[in-house]
Amino acid sequence: MTTLYPWIEPLWQQWQPTLEQDKFSQAILLSAQAGMGIDQLVKLLAKTRLCKSSNDEPCGFCHSCDLFDAGTHPDFHKLAPIEVGKSISVDQIRQCQQWAQQSSQLSGVRVIWIDQADAMTESAANALLKSLEEPTESCSYVLSVEKVNQLLPTIISRCQQWSVAIPPHRQAKQWLLSEVGDKELDLALRLAGGSPLNARQLIDDKKVASYHKLEQALLQALEIKTLFAWHDAAKLLSDDYTQGLTWLWYLLTDAQKQLFGIESEGTLPGAIRVGELTSSDKLYSQTNALVQLLKQFHDHSGLNRELLTLDWLMAF
Ligand SMILES: [Zn+2]
Repeated sequence: MTTLYPWIEPLWQQWQPTLEQDKFSQAILLSAQAGMGIDQLVKLLAKTRLCKSSNDEPCGFCHSCDLFDAGTHPDFHKLAPIEVGKSISVDQIRQCQQWAQQSSQLSGVRVIWIDQADAMTESAANALLKSLEEPTESCSYVLSVEKVNQLLPTIISRCQQWSVAIPPHRQAKQWLLSEVGDKELDLALRLAGGSPLNARQLIDDKKVASYHKLEQALLQALEIKTLFAWHDAAKLLSDDYTQGLTWLWYLLTDAQKQLFGIESEGTLPGAIRVGELTSSDKLYSQTNALVQLLKQFHDHSGLNRELLTLDWLMAF
């Protein structure tokens, strides 16, 4: 049996009784921030539902379990945007409706996983809604999203909702420690927004050092306020604007927390200094402007990111 991530285990345990009684919902909606490893949970659920000889967890020995482990189970279907940042099209949903109508090839049921379901176009969502309104015994749906509120309310209401929360700092840190050893774990977790898997990725990719450089450059620029210094900071952001600016958003919010005397675990090292070098009004307005900037970058692809980032920096 798979060892589940410790922050996922409780939900799996919670599902056990209904799985065992074969009363598990035909359509579930699972929400979790990115980097929580919910694919592990979805796959375990699917494998369990497809297993020929057990209800509450996969037996691991039947033909169905073998096929599942090999990644070739004909009754398990995963649907997601074809490319990062793209939508899930109505054609993709039609394909999954075809699967739903065909009888299963092996186990008597089909499991369809729609990952990043919030990326469905409006027509895709409407098409899926029809399927959810006329559920068939032999097909079950798992929808997973980062932000539930971006789904049609009518779809949400057709699903049983579950969520995997960001684990408590201590639990996440303990897990990270066992994975990567003692390597600036608090900092990595903060930069990953609390997500343990993303924190591990940052450590593996040696990104924590990149953060230190960026923080240094920002502090330097806030001290001397020259065009060169702002350019230096902007240059460090250019590898991945969204990631770098998100880190700076954490830094600014940590600086604000420090000003208000709010203690939190994993506060970024430069937060106090940023608070000393910036007025609280400026800190507030720059944090808000940064949220807007990140939203713009998310919504529009053709922007001059370099210029907009430099503008934002110089508004300090
Ligand atoms: Zn089995």
